[in-house]
Amino acid sequence: MAKRDYYEVLGVNKDATKDEIKKAYRKLSKKYHPDINKEEGADAKFKEISEAYEVLSDEQKRQRYDQFGHAGTQDGFGQGFGGQDFSGFGGAGFEDIFSSFFGGQRQRDPNAPRKGDDLQYTMTVTFEEAVFGVKKEISIRKDVTCHTCHGDGAKPGTNKKTCSYCNGAGHVSVEQNTILGRVRTEKVCPQCNGAGEEFEEACPTCHGRGTETKNVKLEVTVPEGVDNDQQIRLAGQGAPGENGGPAGDLFVVFRVKPSDKFTREGDDILFKQSITFAQAALGDEVKVPTLNGYVMLNIPAGTQSGKQFRLKGKGVKNVHGYGHGDLFVNIKVETPTNLTEKQRELLKAFAEEGGESISEQPSNFKDKARRFFKGD
Ligand SMILES: [Zn+2]
Ligand SMILES: [Zn+2]
Repeated sequence: MAKRDYYEVLGVNKDATKDEIKKAYRKLSKKYHPDINKEEGADAKFKEISEAYEVLSDEQKRQRYDQFGHAGTQDGFGQGFGGQDFSGFGGAGFEDIFSSFFGGQRQRDPNAPRKGDDLQYTMTVTFEEAVFGVKKEISIRKDVTCHTCHGDGAKPGTNKKTCSYCNGAGHVSVEQNTILGRVRTEKVCPQCNGAGEEFEEACPTCHGRGTETKNVKLEVTVPEGVDNDQQIRLAGQGAPGENGGPAGDLFVVFRVKPSDKFTREGDDILFKQSITFAQAALGDEVKVPTLNGYVMLNIPAGTQSGKQFRLKGKGVKNVHGYGHGDLFVNIKVETPTNLTEKQRELLKAFAEEGGESISEQPSNFKDKARRFFKGD
């Protein structure tokens, strides 16, 4: 049975607006809804209307339909066209379209086991959680195998019957508008998805889908030493497979919040330590933080601003187990401000002792400068 043109099905023009399409769909779906219309064939008609509306109400799908006919609305169509990624159209792509153009080959077996989709979850962790690792519970909303029918799609205890749309063949013959003109090809039956059978009664929980959407709690082990944008794979925690295929995987991608103390560079961490002018000149011992508490760091006399000290092995543990990074302490010498009269005298004496002659700015220099810049 050939598929009818979607515009014809809804009784609208090719250039119909979204509103016109919606109105036509509403009118027809009311007329043929299986709860209302008990006539023979109303059910199939209703499905046809819904399918047409699903395509024509979606701008992208409608565009593809206008361009490629029914073939443009098949699953697997569209990947790689115009550089756009039509996610959700999984799998197939070009080859199927072209094999149907040229060889009239049937699409891959729709009843073959198929691995479920992979899912991605982004988890934000603190700097410390990333450095030391932690176990965290997450809640994700995903499709799981229906608990009532165990993925079968049929109401438990009911039988299956031959598909009324394809008479059990699993495929139907359709005419397509292709770039090569009108071509008659075989397509997977839209009603039974190629199974050749349909349910006598669909599962009341999942309405035949075989899956239901649930919030699922999972424990995620954040690996010790993980860094921003790194990910782990939880095998089998993705979407359930089809026709007995394995479930997909769940990828957890980590976003690591910055620390207010340290800067992380790979497995190394940096810490900025301020010391006074006197400490720099005379040398001292200062307390610096590490990932595991404080340590005393020896500042030799004559340390310059910008000097870097390396504390070997005090960085982050490598996530793949290749030892630890280092902790680098970057020294910043603070120039003293707000000197007391006595400190000023001592520093002057200090400078003179070194043979310097300092022409000190008057303390009201700032005010004068401000006046000068104002121009009076
Ligand atoms: Zn079910
Ligand atoms: Zn069928």
